Amino acid sequence: MIPQKNIRYLDVDGLKEIVSGASEPAFRAKQLYEWIWKKAASSFDEMQNLPLAFREYLKSNFSLNIPSVEKMLESSDGSIKFLLRLHDDHCIESVLMPSKSRVSLCISTQVGCRFACRFCATGSIGYKRDLEFYEIFDQVAILNKESIVRYEKKITNIVFMGMGEPLNNYENLVKAMKMISSPQSLGISTRRMTVSTVGLAEGIRKLANEKTNEHLALSLNTAINSKRTRIMPVNKSNGLNKLKEALKYYYGNKREMITLEYIVFDDFNNTEEDAIALKEFLSGLPAKINIIA
Ligand code: SF4
Repeated sequence: MIPQKNIRYLDVDGLKEIVSGASEPAFRAKQLYEWIWKKAASSFDEMQNLPLAFREYLKSNFSLNIPSVEKMLESSDGSIKFLLRLHDDHCIESVLMPSKSRVSLCISTQVGCRFACRFCATGSIGYKRDLEFYEIFDQVAILNKESIVRYEKKITNIVFMGMGEPLNNYENLVKAMKMISSPQSLGISTRRMTVSTVGLAEGIRKLANEKTNEHLALSLNTAINSKRTRIMPVNKSNGLNKLKEALKYYYGNKREMITLEYIVFDDFNNTEEDAIALKEFLSGLPAKINIIA
């Protein structure tokens, strides 16, 4: 059997070629694009304003590779963790977090992760593969529908803080952010997105040069190099000085206050010495700290 081509790798011109190859009128390309990216159809059968014969043609020649919801786990605080199964049987997690005025969604960018932070369960799985841009998009599309059903509200905020390191899957991350924010797609502005990184200096600099308006969060956890390397091995190659320079460059370009995430580990990073190091790290850096105790 010839493997089906994933239609979601095709841009508008590619869809136009499909439409003309199937002897359909040109306006079908726009309809097809809307079904794929605006209405986030989960099957070709859903595309009801396309003629049946054309839908059958699409089904025989192309795939959509939409993930399925494998499991849901509801917490007492109202958040719901979703386990999504991908077309190749790998699973990823996404979490819906409702509050009075907003619904936030935390999404994954990789299957597993290569950075092995000592405090993170994903780190112990190891790295399996990067998510494609459309698999990052799908988490938003699928859970946006869930959010409307459950809370009668669309997703208001997106946090790239699930499985994987977003800046380690840079091209797919940025392509997904642009697709999710496009008015021809889900239309959720990049202003409502937060990219949370373990601290990849080069990726931070690249993101600083993009025409996107996301927030940036750094998982800092200690401002002492030797301690940080103990809990976050990435610090060996992305030490605090290098990181601070990258963060300053990011702020210089985007004028967007950076968030420093600081998980408190008792008797490890909450001493007077840690406070002094943190104060020093913060000097000259427009950032706010989110302390997670
Ligand atoms: S980079 Fe993120 S996902 Fe990867 S191990 Fe560290 S905290 Fe976990």
